[in-house]
Order: sequence, then C-alpha cells, then structure tokens
Amino acid sequence: MHRLLKRQLKKADFNQQVLDQIHLFLDQVNDAYNAFDNDLCHVETVLEKSSQELYQANQRLKNNVESVTSQLSKVANNIKEVIFEIDLDGNWFYLNSAWETLTGHKVKDTLGKPYHTFLVDQEGESVQKLIDFNSQKFSSRNKKFQSLTKDKKTIWVDFSVKRIKSKDGAIEGYIGTIVDITHLKEVEVALIDAKEKATSANKAKDDFLSTMSHEIRTPLNAVVGISHLLLMEDPKKEQLENLNALKFSSEHLLELVSDILDFNKITSGSMELEDADFDLENMLNGIQSIFSNKSREKNIRFIIKKDNLLPKIVKGDNTRLKQILANLINNAIKFTEKGKVVLDVEMISESEEAHIINFEITDTGIGIPEDKIDKIFNSFSQAGSDTTRKYGGTGLGLAICKKLLEIMDSELKVISTLGRGSTFSFSLQLEKSEIHESEVDNLNNYHRFEPLTEDLQSVKVLVAEDNKLNRLVIKKFLTNWNIDFDIAYDGEMALEKAENNCYGLILMDLQMPKMNGFDASLAIRNTDNPLNKVVPIYALTASTGIDINHKIEEYGMNGIICKPFDPEELYSTLVKIISKTKVNQKVTA
Ligand code: ADP
Repeated sequence: MHRLLKRQLKKADFNQQVLDQIHLFLDQVNDAYNAFDNDLCHVETVLEKSSQELYQANQRLKNNVESVTSQLSKVANNIKEVIFEIDLDGNWFYLNSAWETLTGHKVKDTLGKPYHTFLVDQEGESVQKLIDFNSQKFSSRNKKFQSLTKDKKTIWVDFSVKRIKSKDGAIEGYIGTIVDITHLKEVEVALIDAKEKATSANKAKDDFLSTMSHEIRTPLNAVVGISHLLLMEDPKKEQLENLNALKFSSEHLLELVSDILDFNKITSGSMELEDADFDLENMLNGIQSIFSNKSREKNIRFIIKKDNLLPKIVKGDNTRLKQILANLINNAIKFTEKGKVVLDVEMISESEEAHIINFEITDTGIGIPEDKIDKIFNSFSQAGSDTTRKYGGTGLGLAICKKLLEIMDSELKVISTLGRGSTFSFSLQLEKSEIHESEVDNLNNYHRFEPLTEDLQSVKVLVAEDNKLNRLVIKKFLTNWNIDFDIAYDGEMALEKAENNCYGLILMDLQMPKMNGFDASLAIRNTDNPLNKVVPIYALTASTGIDINHKIEEYGMNGIICKPFDPEELYSTLVKIISKTKVNQKVTA
C-alpha cells in the first residue's frame, strides 16, 4: 500500500470491518497515489533534463557573449581611429587603445576625466563648448581641432560625436570617433603654400610681361607712328620701299608682342570675351579688303563666299573673331604659292536666341604632314624645322586661335594633304542681336580721315604724355587732322591744365613722372571745374596688364586706346568720342 495512504489509514484508525467494507475504494485510492507518484517522477525527470539543457544553453550564450566582446574589443583596439564614449557629465567613459597611440595618455588615466581636458582649438584654448549639454538641436558634430599629446606635441584631429538615445528618446551619453588628420593638414598647408607661391610667381610673370610690353610698345609706338607719318608725307619713290619695310617690320614686331601677351592672358585664364553687337557683314568686308591686297602681292586669289542667309548683325566678340579669322587667312596666304584661299561662311542653323555659323578657310598651299597635324596647335610649334626661316612666324598663332575658340565653346579643326592644301574650320554660336538695322551705321564708325566738321574742330584735346617721341607722333597726327590740342608732360601738369581749361577729351598716358595717369585722372574728376566730372578721359597706354580695365574704371576713366595705335583706328575713335561729347554737351546745355 502507498505510504501516504498507509499514514492516512493509521491516523483514521478504522476497525477491520470498516476496512473490509471500503476495501475496493481503498484499492482505487492506492492506485491513484501510485499513478500520481509515477507522474511526479516523470515530471521531475523532464524538469531535470530541461534544467540541464537550460544550463548548457546559458553557458553557450555566455561563451558567445565573451567571444563577441573579446572580438569587439580586439577590433576596437586594433583600429587606428579613436572610438570613445562620453557620459552625461561630459567625462570620458570608454576609449579604445588608439587613444594611447594618438595622444600618449593612458586610457585608464583618461577615463573619468572631462573630455575637454585633452582638446585645444586653433588658438590653443581648451575646447569646452564642443558638446552643448543643454542644446536640444544637437545631433552630431564634426569638427577639426588640435589635440595636445602627452609630450606636448600638437596634432590635428577630426572629432565627430553623436548622442546615444534610448528607445524612449532619453539621452544616455555620447559616442564618436577621433581621427588623426595631422598629415592631411600638413598636405593642405603645403598645398596652400604652393598655390600662394604659384600665384605670386604668376603675378610676377604677369607684371614682367606687362612691363616688358610697355617698354617695347612705347618705342614701337613711335616707330609705327613715324613710319605712318612719313608715308603720309608723300615720300620719294626710293624712300617708299624703305618706309614700307620699316612699317611692315614694326607692325610685325607689334604683332609678336601682342601674340605673346594674348597667349599669356589666355593661359592665365584672364582673357575676358566681349559680348556686343557687331556688323558681321562689315567685318567680313574689312577682312576682304585687308587680305585682297596681301594675296594680290603673291599672285593668288582670295575669295569670301557668304551664305545669303547670314545675319547682318550678331552679338559676340568681334575683335577676337576677327583675330582668329585673320590668323588663319594669314597662314593660308603665307603657306600658299599658287591657286587660291577661300573663306567660306555658312549658316548652319538658327534657334530663337542664336545662329550657328561655320567658318572654313581653304588653301591650295603646301599642306601639313600627317604626323605634324597635332603638333601645330601647340605653342611655339611649327610643322617644319625650316618654317621660320622660309615663312617667318613664331608658332603661336594657331595655339591662340585654338584656345580662344575653346573659350568660345568651339573647336578648331583641320584637314590637310601634303602638297595639296589645308582646310581649317570652326563653328560658332553667335547670339542674335536686338538692335535695329537702322542703328547699324553707328556700329561701324568707319570715318577714314574724312575732314572733321567745324563742330568737331571746336573741341580741344589734352594729351598727357611724358615720352618725347610719342609726343612728337601724336602732335603730328593731331595737327594733320586739324584737331586743337594741349600737351602736358606729366600727371601734375595735366591736372593743372584741366583745372584751368575746358577740354572735350583727355588722352592720358598711365606711366608718367610726378603723378601717374591714374592719380591724375582721379584728381581731375575731383576738381571744382564741373566739366571735368564728365569730360571723357581715355588711357592712351602701352600697358596691357590683365587688371587694367577694372583699374581705369576705378580711377574714373572712360576707356583705353592702346599704343602703338593704328592711325586709322585712333582717328575714328577720336571722332566717335568727340561726336558723343558734343551730343552730351548739347543735351546738358
Ligand atoms: P606661325 O604661322 O607663326 O608659324 P601658327 O601657330 O600660326 O604659327 O602655325 C603653326 C604651324 O602650322 C606653321 O608654322 C605651319 O607649319 C603650320 N601651318 C599653319 N597653317 C598652315 C597652312 N594653312 N598650311 C600649311 N601649314 C600651316
């Protein structure tokens, strides 16, 4: 009988008769007890087993966590960047061992100390405001600081920090990284240094070229001017040849100086393109008249084929387009002994705002060897070693054309067959002009030494020029053109004259003794004579420094006339300025 049932019966103390009566019932209770015992025993075994499994799982988990932690710590301690955690009080809470390598401070000596103890800003002040504990907007910061190492060396660090937030949004601390950027900073400083040196070297080159250009152009102005004057003075037949050679050589020298200056301007990125209305048809006519003479001298034909759809007026840089065309046509004529040179100008397409026009210069000349085609666009490069001796030139023309066209978003192309000839071509997008055809004449200002009207003769011009030869040249021109003038030898004298006279135009050399042209112009603008506020002051200068346009504006001048000047150009410019002045004066009166 089950021990528990036995104990219950003993406690109940039934007599035998009762026991006999409940005998069947007791057997059932006994079976129930035994069954319960069996179940219990089974549950205990199951529990025991589960508990063992639980223990093992726990153990495995523990091992895993330990292994992951050790892996993490291995990773954290093996990366070069410092990983850190800062607590809510702003004290270092965790740092990997990169901290020791970076700063020389022991991690254990650092933990618990305020984070800013080890960081200084660019002025060497402690960085206290990196983490603004009160700011709600703070999410992450990425800043560059200097950090002080244990041996008092300064290193540059990139410090980035982020808030750690719990699921319910409470801030639990800050984590981040510190990266050593000392090397990067050194490279940056070296680059800045190199750039400054390059800029100052470039400036020195620019200054040198501009001074050189002034120095060369000033005497050239006299040579070109005097050769023009002598040719105008009806020379004898035998003198004519010499004078023409003199004029040609001085103009050639001038071209060389201009090419070198242009090339410098383009390569230094300071070439500014004009965007003004110009008469394309008139420009092409000008080219026709210049090059017809040249080609006739060589007994070859020069033909311009104009598409009848070409617009008359367009917008763009007239001077530079003319320069490119002149360069290419000049080469074509130079390298052609017989046959013809053709400039073909064709309208390719037209949009609402612009025309696309193709320019093609074909010659029947010597052609270019295939292996030299790429070379000829390089500066100072010619196809043959004897080109300079045979044909002259510097090898700069095509390099300038190519670069100018690049600035204009175009490309210079060439096809050539040795012994047969070459074709140079490019397409330009030229904006449509908004001016009316009736205004076209004003654009052309072509006055070619027509006698001045009486009205224009009444205007007096002041010329400030310190160079004796240049004074002689301009005096002769102005006298020839019947223009009344005064001469000042320096800036001070120009100011004095402007104070006491009424001039319709002032031509001002820039580099002069006592007072230079800039200061003299500014001083003239500030005199009491009200006419001096409006009188056109033009810089008559051989300088072509790249900032000259801005400078003349700053000093109150209205424009530049470049020396050496082409007499025709000077004449038409003077007429244009004087007519404008007259109109203005009439309006003011
Ligand atoms: P330059 O004409 O002053 O020598 P360019 O840069 O204008 O310099 O031309 C470079 C070289 O390209 C020339 O020296 C010449 O060898 C070659 N070249 C240019 N245009 C032509 C042409 N139309 N026919 C043959 N060769 C040419």
